[in-house]
Amino acid sequence: MDKRTFIKTASVLTGGLILQDMIACNSSEKSPTQNEQLSNWAGNLKYSTTNVHYPQTVEETAGIVKKCDKLRALGSQHAFNAIADSKENLVSLKNMNKIVALDKTANTVTVEAGVRYGDIAPYLDENGYALANLASLPHITVVGACATATHGSGVQNGNLSTSVAAIEFINAAGDVITLSKQKDGERFNGAVVNLGALGVVTKITLDVIPTFKMKQLVYLNMPVNELKNNFDKIENEGYSVSLFTDWKNKNINEVWIKSRFAGNDNATAKPELFSAKLATKNVHPIETESAENVTDQMGVPGPWYERMPHFKMGFKPSAGKELQAEYFVPIENAYDAIMAVEKLNERISPHLFITEIRAIHADELWMSPCYKQTSVTIHFTWKQETEAVMNLLPQIEAQLMPFNVKPHWAKLFTLSPQVLQSRYAKLADFKALVAEYDPKGKFRNEFLTKNLFS
Ligand SMILES: Cc1cc2nc3c(=O)[nH]c(=O)nc-3n(C[C@H](O)[C@H](O)[C@H](O)COP(=O)(O)OP(=O)(O)OC[C@H]3O[C@@H](n4cnc5c(N)ncnc54)[C@H](O)[C@@H]3O)c2cc1C
Repeated sequence: MDKRTFIKTASVLTGGLILQDMIACNSSEKSPTQNEQLSNWAGNLKYSTTNVHYPQTVEETAGIVKKCDKLRALGSQHAFNAIADSKENLVSLKNMNKIVALDKTANTVTVEAGVRYGDIAPYLDENGYALANLASLPHITVVGACATATHGSGVQNGNLSTSVAAIEFINAAGDVITLSKQKDGERFNGAVVNLGALGVVTKITLDVIPTFKMKQLVYLNMPVNELKNNFDKIENEGYSVSLFTDWKNKNINEVWIKSRFAGNDNATAKPELFSAKLATKNVHPIETESAENVTDQMGVPGPWYERMPHFKMGFKPSAGKELQAEYFVPIENAYDAIMAVEKLNERISPHLFITEIRAIHADELWMSPCYKQTSVTIHFTWKQETEAVMNLLPQIEAQLMPFNVKPHWAKLFTLSPQVLQSRYAKLADFKALVAEYDPKGKFRNEFLTKNLFS
């Protein structure tokens, strides 16, 4: 019997799963036809292996980790770069998607690694709880988002990883490790934004707060020079503030202000905000996209999880076929950094859907771009014109170089590894942590080798 016939016959006999494990982790016997080739959400990246494991339990995950020499974990595949990629084996925990516990004494919720923010938010709300912040979309896994320091907005709000209270992961030896904020101090701070390098996270515990209602207002067309003296005031207009610009006409096209709604709050919205006019209908950040996809605006109160993300669960987030890049600079440099990018406006605009500017509070997480630094992010949602975008990124990075620029871990960038590494004061400690949990580099892929270890 040749190998192909054996695989076919054995799949029928065994139901495939056990066989898949046997093949996938034995590098001399890989079967490229075993699974279809997966792409990331935007479709700009095809993962480099078809060996994808779908465990149902922690024990099964540990078994896969033990068997594989090389392995990377996948979340909901929203990263735009190859951070999650592997040439050898991928493991997706999408079948491990249960809410494990809501601890009303500790004020935490524990979920399995396949759970997305959109899955837990309504459950938390029904039980009287909320998360302190959310990203622009609820479609991403909690674990994948926290691994890359995914953020929402709000000068007083840390990134989403700052809500993590504990993690459980399988290290390279196949042991189950748990670390918590309460008992593991600095080690925990090193492990939360882990870039998938410490092991396969199987559970994550988040801090929860009492549920609250929110409303959002949008103001249209703010001259960019209003940011010069009023940036802090604008950022403090709400709980979470986003500025959208297409870099045309020195104009901020839309200012989204998300505020907590007290219930007895009958205040009418001011008609103008630093020369921008209150919108009179729901708007999408990208002019050509339908406002059906965005969460309700116009000051209509609603649950926190239906106001904090820009995009509704169950609807298309953003533009779909797109690329994204995003850069962090210290908040003190916000206006200068924006004006430095503005110099490239004529080159940027033709390839851009929209730019979003947000603020994120400083944190203590070693590999977070906001480690000890409250920051502003300048984000670009690009048309899927890869060559043009990859030519523009070094130009934008050069403009932002005087501001200690750091890229988003999960988006496109071209910053050199040397510069990137120099931006992370705790990189050596993080590498020591990686060496402890993964001494032989089982979870190291090309992205990590290039950017952290070269
Ligand atoms: C339309 C759109 C909007 C976005 N909006 C925002 C935004 O508002 N703010 C923002 O900061 N980012 C945003 N992003 C980026 C997104 O938050 C990140 O790409 C995030 O990492 C995606 O999580 P994921 O579950 O898709 O993880 P993946 O992309 O699948 O993986 C990301 C990383 O997490 C690791 N990982 C995933 N699961 C595990 C696990 N079980 N164990 C160990 N490691 C794991 C992977 O190995 C990889 O390193 C957006 C992306 C898109 C496509």
